[in-house]
Amino acid sequence: MLTGNVTEFLDPVFSSGVTLASVSAQKAANLVIRHFKGEQVDWENEYMKFMQRGIDVFRTYVNTWYDGTLFSIFFAEERNEDIMNKICSVLAGYVWDESNPFVRNHEKNVRTLGKYMSKATIDK
Ligand SMILES: Cc1cc2nc3c(=O)[nH]c(=O)nc-3n(C[C@H](O)[C@H](O)[C@H](O)COP(=O)(O)OP(=O)(O)OC[C@H]3O[C@@H](n4cnc5c(N)ncnc54)[C@H](O)[C@@H]3O)c2cc1C
Repeated sequence: MLTGNVTEFLDPVFSSGVTLASVSAQKAANLVIRHFKGEQVDWENEYMKFMQRGIDVFRTYVNTWYDGTLFSIFFAEERNEDIMNKICSVLAGYVWDESNPFVRNHEKNVRTLGKYMSKATIDK
């Protein structure tokens, strides 16, 4: 059972490392307990795919930080507080919160917002 850095290391920029290490360790421990109790554990869906979802969300934010998209969102002149709160929630580690559109459609929403913010700043 692999957890934390040995499964995947993204980048130190958004504190994804400690979140993913903690969540994967907790998830793995609970699944191992169920396994030892004789329960059938679906490792692929309950562990691999679950972790991959969180990793992929973080990956969007890491990639869009380095390509400048997030920069244009964070430092736009007119920022929407609700949107900023949703993005902050993701960066605080709530990468499995599917009620947040910036988790659910992370790649599309961040890129669309980044384009809009860049255009709004250029137009000014
Ligand atoms: C410079 C830097 C800055 C970072 N900044 C951040 C940050 O700000 N926020 C964030 O969230 N993440 C950050 N990270 C990433 C984060 O530190 C890691 O993702 C996280 O610590 C991974 O936890 P882990 O338990 O998987 O591995 P580790 O913390 O690496 O723990 C593995 C442990 O296993 C031990 N070990 C190795 N081999 C053996 C062995 N054979 N026998 C016994 N023990 C062994 C090691 O000594 C170590 O204590 C940063 C990483 C680096 C390098």
